[in-house]
Amino acid sequence: MFGFSIPKIIFTAAVIAAVWYGFKWLNRRQQVEAERAQADLNKGGAEAPDVEEMVPCPDCGAYVAKGGDHRCT
Ligand SMILES: [Zn+2]
Repeated sequence: MFGFSIPKIIFTAAVIAAVWYGFKWLNRRQQVEAERAQADLNKGGAEAPDVEEMVPCPDCGAYVAKGGDHRCT
């Protein structure tokens, strides 16, 4: 007699298939969550306010907004 039977092989194949599809499903879920996290990150970056560049005035040394009108007192 053989050491294995057809039902055993079918059962083993079914278990392997279940594990395989389980891994595929988990990977897909992680990918979706990673994409969502990345989208949130991008959205947050777009909503972040622009920081105006400050430069020291060459005449008085006061830090003023670059391009802004400034008059030394
Ligand atoms: Zn100045």
